[in-house]
Amino acid sequence: MSDHVAQSQPVLSMPSSVPSTLMPSSVTSKRHPCSSASVTYISRRKLVEVVDGLLGVMTPSSTHIKPSVHSFSDGPSDELCPYKAWLATCPSALASFDRIIASAQGKKIALFLDYDGTLSPIVNDPEKAFMSPEMRAAVKNVAKFFPTAIVSGRSRDKVFEFVQLKELCYAGSHGMDIMLSSADSESKTEDDKETKLFQPASEFLPMIIEAYDSLVEATRSITGANVENNKFCVSVHYRNVDKQDWNSVAQLVDDVLKSFPHLKLTTGRKVLEVRPVIDWDKGKAVEFLLQSLRLDDPESVLPIYIGDDRTDEDAFKVLRERNCGCGILVSQLPKQTQAFYSLRAPSEVMEFLDSLVRWKEQQQPAHVQE
Ligand SMILES: [Mg+2]
Repeated sequence: MSDHVAQSQPVLSMPSSVPSTLMPSSVTSKRHPCSSASVTYISRRKLVEVVDGLLGVMTPSSTHIKPSVHSFSDGPSDELCPYKAWLATCPSALASFDRIIASAQGKKIALFLDYDGTLSPIVNDPEKAFMSPEMRAAVKNVAKFFPTAIVSGRSRDKVFEFVQLKELCYAGSHGMDIMLSSADSESKTEDDKETKLFQPASEFLPMIIEAYDSLVEATRSITGANVENNKFCVSVHYRNVDKQDWNSVAQLVDDVLKSFPHLKLTTGRKVLEVRPVIDWDKGKAVEFLLQSLRLDDPESVLPIYIGDDRTDEDAFKVLRERNCGCGILVSQLPKQTQAFYSLRAPSEVMEFLDSLVRWKEQQQPAHVQE
């Protein structure tokens, strides 16, 4: 997918206001001196906080809700089945489909979809995280009826290679690389299909390339470590690293970051992610997309965001705080989340998308349907 406008200047305006409640406590009011975008940037945490945080994140059980007598009160059977108990607080979006649809009456649904673990299975080799033809057909069908955007930590080009649907809009690098095609279903003429690019971290690109080279070199001795250049962020995958070496990976990455004070570290599913310290994430990207696509009226639009990862929580939180729309967490295990609903796996995501299409088709007169 090629860029149709110069990449040095953002062509779209930033959201006019970002709720102060979305700002992390460490956000400063300074702009990055090189950045043309009016984004704030965040001070890096101290080394000890970073490593301690990683040790917590790297232990899978730490991200999951542990069953507790005090957490759930539905009786002994639920204590033995924490997932079932969790569904009481984060119900299945399939089981709750009628309720979701009821809240969409008279509104346009806007869909935001993460890629890895949401549309594709999590696999050992991130280069082979292919989506199935059936899932691609489901996304293509749903995009005929609803404005649909892919919001991924991957580079925009790479996630487009996986998805291969030109009718969507794409936000890569955790929303730091947004290409708007005319995702609004009411604007389907060729003239309307003007593509627009927004890259709030464009000035960080040389720094990211340098950090990528340093991280490749630093982790060369760690068997199974895989460093991926996602354009505006670098992902260090440790899924295939022996567990006893996870600490070493975290320490090596943090050592590299000492030379890059304008880069920060975040975490995902068996991945450490290095990205610019600007105050921008998937939640900000969703707000930006809603505004840019003129979908930010809560009275007429119901945004639905589906994702499986920690980084998707920023988007869930935005929808929850806007009191508009809902997040759907994809997880086979109980997790603390800002999402309102859950789905167990990409297969259920596909089922949910198919259900949306069937519902919409039933609403339309036969002669309108394709
Ligand atoms: Mg994901």
